Amino acid sequence: MMAEILICPICKIGLPQSASMPRNGIASINCPNCGDYCLAADYNSDSIASKRLKPFQLATLSYAIRRMHGNGLPPLIVEDFAHNI
Ligand SMILES: [Zn+2]
Repeated sequence: MMAEILICPICKIGLPQSASMPRNGIASINCPNCGDYCLAADYNSDSIASKRLKPFQLATLSYAIRRMHGNGLPPLIVEDFAHNI
């Protein structure tokens, strides 16, 4: 069962290409605003879909993702990542 992602879960902008979120897996998202990143399904359901993260926290997350692209690899967004920004 795959859920389709049509907007960026973090900054809510429409995605040029929809992504799929495998159950308990990792979605690869190409956001025009945040850039490429990988989002863990459990993080998405626990923190984003549940609205546990406030809008300013999501904005901080989006900024942190953009900043990490200097490393060359799309950042993987899981619970630890969000705790360390
Ligand atoms: Zn985004």
